[in-house]
Order: sequence, then structure tokens, then C-alpha cells
Amino acid sequence: MPEKLIFDKSYSGRRGVTLPTEGFADRPAEKYIPKAHLRHTPLALPEVSENELMRHYTRLSEENYGVDNGFYPLGSCTMKYNPKINEDVARLPGFAEIHPLQAEETVQGALALLYDLEQMLAEVSGMAAVSLQPVAGAQGEMVGMLIARAYHQASGRQRHTVLIPDSAHGTNPASAHLAGYTIQTVKSNQDGIIDLEDLARLVNEETAALMLTNPNTLGLFERQIGEAAKIVHDAGALLYFDGANMNALLGLTRPGDMGFDIVHFNLHKTFSTPHGGGGPGAGPVGVGPALIPYLPAPIVTKNKDGYRLDHKRPQSIGRVHGFYGNFGILVRAYTYIRRLGAPGLSAISKSTIINANYLKKRLGEDYAIPMNRPCMHEFILSAKKFRDKGIHAWDIAKRLIDYGFYPPTVNFPLIIEEALMIEAPESEAKETLDDFAEAMHQIRLEIDSDPELLKSAPQTRKVGRMNEVQAARKLNVRYATNTLKEKNENL
Ligand SMILES: *Cc1c(COP(=O)(O)O)cnc(C)c1O
Repeated sequence: MPEKLIFDKSYSGRRGVTLPTEGFADRPAEKYIPKAHLRHTPLALPEVSENELMRHYTRLSEENYGVDNGFYPLGSCTMKYNPKINEDVARLPGFAEIHPLQAEETVQGALALLYDLEQMLAEVSGMAAVSLQPVAGAQGEMVGMLIARAYHQASGRQRHTVLIPDSAHGTNPASAHLAGYTIQTVKSNQDGIIDLEDLARLVNEETAALMLTNPNTLGLFERQIGEAAKIVHDAGALLYFDGANMNALLGLTRPGDMGFDIVHFNLHKTFSTPHGGGGPGAGPVGVGPALIPYLPAPIVTKNKDGYRLDHKRPQSIGRVHGFYGNFGILVRAYTYIRRLGAPGLSAISKSTIINANYLKKRLGEDYAIPMNRPCMHEFILSAKKFRDKGIHAWDIAKRLIDYGFYPPTVNFPLIIEEALMIEAPESEAKETLDDFAEAMHQIRLEIDSDPELLKSAPQTRKVGRMNEVQAARKLNVRYATNTLKEKNENL
């Protein structure tokens, strides 16, 4: 049975909390809230005891699956373990309770943290300066494209196209489009990396930028990045780095050293802040020296009197988010980086690369691996050969739920048919990877022995196979009656 809605547990007159009623005679609400905003009828809230409320939400939380429950091999998303010290630090009253409108001299500690985080990210990526304002990777991409626009405009030549490989994440073309660019797709070659001939053919004086993910979404390092950078720069265009896979590079190499001009980070992926379900995240943007004037304003500066926000940036693309961005996420990422230090950061990348290659080797015994060469932090399986049995990548993914694992990313990148994209973060122990490989092995046997089992998976959960298109388009979390909701709508 699905958990009933809290509204459906409501019993008229039941209370979880009782507030004092005496002593408010001289403090009517009208005194504090403009009349137009006062409610005329009480809000139809669910009426439940504290006990029922607690059980309701505790049970719901137990329905959830997260990195604290088990392995979460969701490729590209980097669902690594989020150390709890990040949470402790983000909850320190000095961080959690400051007001975004407080005067600068009263939030020097917060500004110092932001300043230091900018410096650390610049160091890790090899860029000259970083803005922490964007609140998602996708927003970072859009900021990057707006910076490219501002840069080309300032050089007196507007350019109209952005080149993006066919293996790219869907946010890349979406962001470039939002920034006003036309997208041209660059092919991947048979090794799964960017086809330099196709790149050279497409680049011209209309090209504003090439957006590249390295390692790319197949988990493969773009070995010809030096040549690609030269082709792009020789045409006067910029090279944009999608940093979602930065967890494979920490302390090993840097986008700045590879020739990238603009970089976005996904702090929520690489630097372990809780994500999934849509956020909150942080997508800082780093740039090379020539692009610093265009970064979003304000930026944090430091002088002998302390830290301040510099709003006077005439060439800036402007503000892209309120206040300091998602400050709590920035505190978590800062804590993670400071706790690990430089050796810890490079250990992350080495371990995730070893984890992914180990798992790839094990799963390669049962599943096809297109472009099979040493991978970085993730790799792709293809379930294409099971199609004649009526089995698709998502059937394998759904069956994994019955085995107690979160499913990997499926059908992405688009260039691999029936793709299963598996990421093995450094925080996973070998035993966990072995359990996962064993589950995948059992599923491989089931594909031959009982394919119907996969097609109707998951069977062990309260909610079975959903119509995913409908679930995404017609969001209805209400299983039961709508009476209280209707009441609210009538108020
Ligand atoms: C996650 C991801 C993005 C988008 O980042 P968000 O923070 O989810 O907006 C872009 N590119 C790649 C390769 C990604 O994995």
C-alpha cells in the first residue's frame, strides 16, 4: 500500500502543536501585515498529531533511495558519498543564520570562504578567475556562452554558431541556444572521441565556441585535445569545458592546461554536495585571463581592509543569481576540498578511475562494451544485442532495483544504442562493486532464462513499472481524494 497523503490522515480538531492564545489582544495581525494580505478563512492544513506527522515523514524518507542507502551508479551524475562533516559546517550558525543583505563588514568570514573557494577552484582547473554565482551546471554553461558572446562582441565581430559533439549532454545545446547561438553537431569517430576532421570542416569565422566534455560522456579521455584546441583557437573561437566529469581529473591534469578558455564546475557532482531531485547545486564558472571582465558581477575581492563585493564591472554579463549563489552548497564544497587537501583530491580521481576500470572489466564478461579501452571515471555498456529478445537497457536498469541498486543512466549518450552508463565513484568499496557485478551477472542469466521477469521489473517495490512519459508530463503525486486540496483552491 502506498503511504496515504498527509491530507488524507487529517482528523478535524486533532493537533500536533498548540500555541498559546493568551496575551495577544494588543497585537492583532492587522498591526503587522497589510490588510490586503490577510487571510479571511483559515488555511486548510492537515490536522494530525505530532506522532502521526513524524511517522508519516519518517516512513516516506524510508521509501527513498539515496547514496546513504547504497550504490548509486548513475553515470554522469557522480552520486558519490557526501561526507557528513560538510553538513556540520554548513549548519554552523555563523554560516546558516547570516542574512544575505547583511553589511559586508559583518560577513567577512563568509566572504573569505567564497574568496578562498574561488581561488581553490581556479587552482584545480588552471583558470585565472572563478565566479561562484551560477547554481547549476546548466546555468554555468549558459553563463559561459554569454561570456563568449560578450567577448566576441567586444572584439567587434559577432559570431553565430557553437559546435557541440554528438556525445554531449543535452544541456550543452540547450544552454548555447538560450544564449542565442545556432548549434552545429560535431561527429565522434570510431574511438568515441571527437572527429578532428569533422571539427576542422565545421570551424569557421562564424564559430563562437566549441563545447567539450573531457573525459567525454563515454568516460573516454579526449586524447587529441591539444589538436582540437589549436583548430578552435586558430579560427578565433573559444574552447568551453563542461566540467561535469572533473572528478576524473583532479590533481592529474587541468582544463586550463589543455587550452580551455571557459570552464564550469558541478560542485554538487565533483565536490560531494547532496543532489538529485533537482538540486540545489552550484555551477561556478572559471575563465582565462582575457575573459575576466565578462564574469558575472559582483565578484569577491580582497584588499588590506578585508573582503568586499565588487559590483563595478562595466563589461560583466551581469548578475545571474541573487546574492552569493547557493551559499550553503558552496560551504559544503569548500569543506570537502579543505578536508581532503591537494593529495586527497588527486586520490579521488585515481580511485574513481580504478573503480570504473575494475567494474568495466567485470561487467565486460557479460555485456558488450562499445569502444572498449581504458576508461576514466565511468563507462558505457550496450544492451543492443538483447533487443531480439525484447529486452532494452531500461529493463536491465529496472531489474537492478529488485536487486537493491539504484539503476544506472540509460539511453545516454545518444550515440550508443541501448546505453547503460555506469559511474563508480571513489567512495565505493571493492565489495560493493563486486555485489553490483554479481547482480548484473544474475540479470544477464535472467535475460536468457526469464526475459519476462525483466520486462515487468521492478516487482519488489510498492510502485512498479511506471509509464515514464506520463509520469513526467502529468505529475500527480496524489493517490487518493482531493478534498482538502480542493478546499484550499476554493479559499
Ligand atoms: C550533469 C551534467 C550537466 C548539467 O549539470 P547540472 O548541474 O545538472 O545542470 C552537463 N553536462 C554533463 C556531462 C553532465 O553530466
